[in-house]
Amino acid sequence: MTKQKRFMLTESELPTQWYNIQADMPNKPLPPLHPATRQPLGVEDLAHIFPLECCKQELNTTDSFIDIPEEVLEKYKFYRSTPLVRAYELEKALGTPAHIYFKNESVNPLGSHKINSALPQCYYAKQEGTTNVTTETGAGQWGAALSYAASVFGLEAAVYQVKISMQQKPYRSSIMRTFGATVEGSPSMSTRAGKDIITKNPMHMGSLGTAISEAVELAMTTPGCKYTLGSVLNHVAIHQSIIGLEAEKQMEKAGEYPDTVIACFGGGSNFGGIAFPFMRHNILDGKNTEFIAAEPESCPKLTRGKFDYDFGDEAGLTPLLPMYTLGHDFRPANIHAGGLRYHGAGMIVSQLIKDGYMHGVDIPQLETFEAGILFARTEGIIPAPESSHAIAATIREALKCKQTGEEKVILFNLSGHGLIDMTAYDQYINGDLMNYQVTDEDIAKNHIGTV
Ligand SMILES: *Cc1c(COP(=O)(O)O)cnc(C)c1O
Repeated sequence: MTKQKRFMLTESELPTQWYNIQADMPNKPLPPLHPATRQPLGVEDLAHIFPLECCKQELNTTDSFIDIPEEVLEKYKFYRSTPLVRAYELEKALGTPAHIYFKNESVNPLGSHKINSALPQCYYAKQEGTTNVTTETGAGQWGAALSYAASVFGLEAAVYQVKISMQQKPYRSSIMRTFGATVEGSPSMSTRAGKDIITKNPMHMGSLGTAISEAVELAMTTPGCKYTLGSVLNHVAIHQSIIGLEAEKQMEKAGEYPDTVIACFGGGSNFGGIAFPFMRHNILDGKNTEFIAAEPESCPKLTRGKFDYDFGDEAGLTPLLPMYTLGHDFRPANIHAGGLRYHGAGMIVSQLIKDGYMHGVDIPQLETFEAGILFARTEGIIPAPESSHAIAATIREALKCKQTGEEKVILFNLSGHGLIDMTAYDQYINGDLMNYQVTDEDIAKNHIGTV
């Protein structure tokens, strides 16, 4: 008998609602605050920057399930369901009794999970009469997804891309331009925030924090323009729940239920996406699944950050968000996993860590590439450097099972492919990459909140 490797859903089996874990959390996330007044922000306050429907979802702590608009479902069908795959060859190479499954979110026109939220954000913006959208992008995955979604729904897109990533991954800018977007390296001279950052530090190679400052400024000063964010915020995690909701049905087809769920962690959207639909059963039905978020050793906000109110951007333009943070002016090393170079964690995840529902683990850069290459050679897919953090964490767990003999079921999210990151793989293979540890002094010198 041949063993089944891929588990798919038919079109009629696709989820028609997203999951909103806020409704089921015993302790709700603390509210975002106005930076000057320190008063909790309402839907109207957020709606100056974001599409209104996204703001409603952001603060929705009552509805566990939210309907996916028909028009968005139609676009999801271009690439969903994504495959759930049993990684038999990886298991064999590790000699582990664990059953390893991965959800392959790299199988779509843009190559990462980001498209799952770009489509609804652009759909809502269009519905509400917006003509332009703007955003920041690190590695370029979010910018690419947003550029595509904007073109699908007939919007103009302006993207600020972190300068270092633009140099490391020039093809992502080409992808964005192919879909019709305008792309600018951040920090740029085209905004007040960008000019201030360059004046203070002319060699600044950019961070997600600088790019967010610039995009938010553009949205606030341009009529008919809304800002969109690819991670961190609650409504993004809601849209990404499509990953876990599908995986839940696919695991059922495989006849298993995960003991451990793992994803890499930048701002928390692909982690929340795969984890929350399963965590729901920990909260409501007494299941005992372990949830692990894999972050880079060089940007350890989950394990070494402080839980506090902090800005989402470097210049301090965004609302104050309650989160595990390394400080909004923390500047992570230029690792290749550009999508994980963010100083803070999402509000939902931060509360869930405080309440003990999940935990973070730090992975050194070289271990992630070693894991990525083993995965490529066994399963035939070259993973994004971000996703390789999840693979490395999975390998650690699978090797523990080898020690104990436990047949654990491990599910991880393959958030994207690495076909535009081959420079990074070349550098690793040539021995030109290194690890970046962060000292306690590095962490202590950064600013949290308004101080
Ligand atoms: C952006 C990105 C991430 C990190 O963002 P999250 O919001 O934490 O998911 C991870 N993997 C890939 C491929 C990405 O593009």
